[in-house]
Formats: sequence, C-alpha cells, structure tokens
Amino acid sequence: MRSDNEALPDVIDAGTVPRWDEEADVLVVGYGMAGACAALEAVNAGADALIIERFSGHGGTSAVAGGHFYLGGGTPVQTACGFEDSAEEMEKFLTAITPSPIPEKIHDYSFDSVAHFHWLEAQGIAFERSFYPHKTMMQPGTEGLIWSGNEEVHPYRDMARPAPRGHKVSFPGMEGGGGFALQHLDARFRAAGGRVMTDARVDALVRDEGGICGVGASAAGGRTVHLRARRGVVLAGGGFGQNRAMVRHFLPKFADAGERVEFIGAPGEDGSAIRLGQSAGGRTVHMEELRPQRDRYHPSAGGTGLSHPRQRHLRLSRACEVDAPGTGRRLGDGRGDGDGAQHSGRGTRPHPGALQRRCRTRDRQPVRQASQMAEAAQCPALRGV
Ligand SMILES: Cc1cc2nc3c(=O)[nH]c(=O)nc-3n(C[C@H](O)[C@H](O)[C@H](O)COP(=O)(O)OP(=O)(O)OC[C@H]3O[C@@H](n4cnc5c(N)ncnc54)[C@H](O)[C@@H]3O)c2cc1C
Repeated sequence: MRSDNEALPDVIDAGTVPRWDEEADVLVVGYGMAGACAALEAVNAGADALIIERFSGHGGTSAVAGGHFYLGGGTPVQTACGFEDSAEEMEKFLTAITPSPIPEKIHDYSFDSVAHFHWLEAQGIAFERSFYPHKTMMQPGTEGLIWSGNEEVHPYRDMARPAPRGHKVSFPGMEGGGGFALQHLDARFRAAGGRVMTDARVDALVRDEGGICGVGASAAGGRTVHLRARRGVVLAGGGFGQNRAMVRHFLPKFADAGERVEFIGAPGEDGSAIRLGQSAGGRTVHMEELRPQRDRYHPSAGGTGLSHPRQRHLRLSRACEVDAPGTGRRLGDGRGDGDGAQHSGRGTRPHPGALQRRCRTRDRQPVRQASQMAEAAQCPALRGV
C-alpha cells in the first residue's frame, strides 16, 4: 500500500554513485531506541556498524519516552516483588489485546522477554527490584514495576492470568527514562567500536544487482554523501506523526481535527524511513493503529469500569484536554507496547475519570463508551475510534 500521494524517493542505481564516502558492514538509519539496539547487536556480533542520524545526536521520540519496557514471563523484578508470571500468560494477554495479532512476533516477544530484560541490564540499564502499587501512568520515582496495561480488566483478566509488566528504568520522574536508557546504549555502542554519523539525513537507498547496498544522505553543509553497506541496511527512523500527508492517508479520521489533535513525537517523525522502505518495495502494515492519549495525568482521578478495545497506538493529546483542562488522563488502551493504560488497581481501567465526571455533570448521564466521551467533549476526532 502506498503511503500517500507524494512520490516515493527514487532508489539510486549503484552504478551511478560517483564515490563511496564511507563504508560499513551494517548501516543503521536513525539513532533512537530501535536503531541503538540494532546497531549494538550488530557490533556485538562482530560487524562494523555505522548509525546515520539526521539530528546532532541520538534521541528521537525515544529521548522523551518515559522509560517503560513491557517485560514479563518471570523477570527478576517480578519475582522479587512477589508476582508470578509466565511467557505463556504474557503471550495470551498480548494476543488478546492486539487487533490483528502476528502470532510469531508475539510469541517471540513473550518467550524472549526475560532474555530482553537481562540484555538491557547487561548494557547498564538497571531496574530496581521494587513495585509501585498506586494508580498512575508512570511511576514518579525509581520503582521498577507497575501495572501498566489492561491485564486486570475484563475481559482480559479472564483470558490470561494478570501480572504487572511495566518495567521502568531506574530513573526518577515521569519523563526522560527513555533518554536515560539510550545514553547507556550509546556508551556501549561507542565503547564496542560502533560509529555514528550525525547531521546526515538519509534521502534514498542505493541498489546493485545483489539488492540494497547503501544509502544516499544529505550531510552537514548541504553535502550529498553516499554510504556503502557491505552486509545490510537497517531502517529505524521512527514514526510518521509529523507527516500530514501520511496521517491523512493512514488516519483520515484525524486529518481534519485541526488543533484539537496533536501528534506527540520528535520532529524527525516524518515517516521518511518508512518511505525509504517502500521505495525498495517494502509494504506497510498496521499503519492505521494508534494510541489516543490525554497529555496530563491525575493519578487519583480514576475512571472505573471502562476499557475500550479499539484504541490504538498513535498518540493524541489536546483532543480531550479541551473539556477537562488540567486533569488529563490517558485514554488508555494497554495495546501493543503494553504501556497504554492507567491502572485502577481494582481490575478496572482507563478512560479519563475527570472527563467522565465532566460529562456527567454536563449531561447528567454517566458516559459508558469512549465514543460517548468524545461526543460529550466535542472531540470529533475520537468518535468512532
Ligand atoms: C511522551 C512519550 C512517552 C513514551 N513513553 C514510552 C514508554 O515509556 N515506553 C515505551 O515502550 N514507549 C514509549 N513511547 C513510545 C516510544 O517512545 C516510541 O515507540 C519509540 O521511542 C520509537 O523508537 P524508534 O527508535 O523507533 O524511533 P525514534 O526514537 O523516533 O528514533 C528514530 C530516529 O531516526 C531519526 N531519523 C528519522 N528519519 C531519518 C532519516 N531519514 N535519516 C536519518 N535519521 C532519521 C530520527 O531523528 C530519530 O532520532 C513514548 C512516546 C512518547 C511520545
């Protein structure tokens, strides 16, 4: 499926490249969390890896992330805090909350989860063996574990044995944990001999008879450079929330929401790496999935008894702030990365309690569904999500 009406970048024929400015076994486009992990694993496997980042350092949306890793299956933090979990139960839960599950992916994610935990700690990213029992989106301190998804919510609690899986890096505060984790990965990558080229935006892939063999980039000072990949190119350039044309194409319901919907993410989230993949014949899946979110949280103002299975990944913010200023809560979902929802602590879940109360006050009717809330909040973008 094409991303939008704009032309995709041309793939450059290797025969036309005037000269290779740099070479590496593996070129990684983008220095957020995905690129850092891929590049680090490449150097750990003995490859010479070069990360190409359009801005002046690592970061991307990962830099603003709170620092939750959705991990389970019996991690040392879960065990130390007295929670039983298994890869099978994690797999069941993730399958249940995913609209179009890819079974192999969910299986691997669940069964490798404890190994992922150990991998992160081996890079110096520590997780405190402690549990934060209160209801909030992100533990404010350094506690290592919290309920971060819909595990205890009907119907999921009946489909998989619930366990808390929101592992937060040992970093205080609700924001910045992702950047903190990234700093550790960056240190490891450089110490292992990895190389980074910053201020270089990859604009095109280069192909020879064997396949994709490099990239063309706009580097500092407006120079065009060509970088050769002896083994492969990894595209890890993040999302597309800042690309209006792609939003219009994949999420047409939100295209006309104007200022009431804001796509939260780094400025580099313009979908350019996705488009590079498409230019080489890649196809996209699940682009319509999103995660609506309020942009402020009030831990104790809890909505209860509501969960909405059709809310997805992309983040929206001001949408619902409209009617509940200063008391924002995430329009929770717990989908995908497992970090989508508020936890009530009693098997009930998300949705903005404050907004719900506001709707009640206004209409004298309790609202029951996200769509009703959206209606009451005059938030058309969320209707029918
Ligand atoms: C406020 C907030 C909090 C969040 N908290 C969490 C959380 O606690 N837990 C969680 O699991 N998820 C969280 N997320 C989601 C998570 O941050 C993202 O899913 C994740 O960071 C994406 O990582 P990435 O490496 O794919 O992309 P990014 O981190 O966006 O990295 C992509 C990088 O590629 C670069 N790039 C893009 N195009 C090019 C190009 N053409 N050439 C060169 N470089 C390019 C960008 O500049 C960027 O540095 C949060 C998101 C937000 C907005």
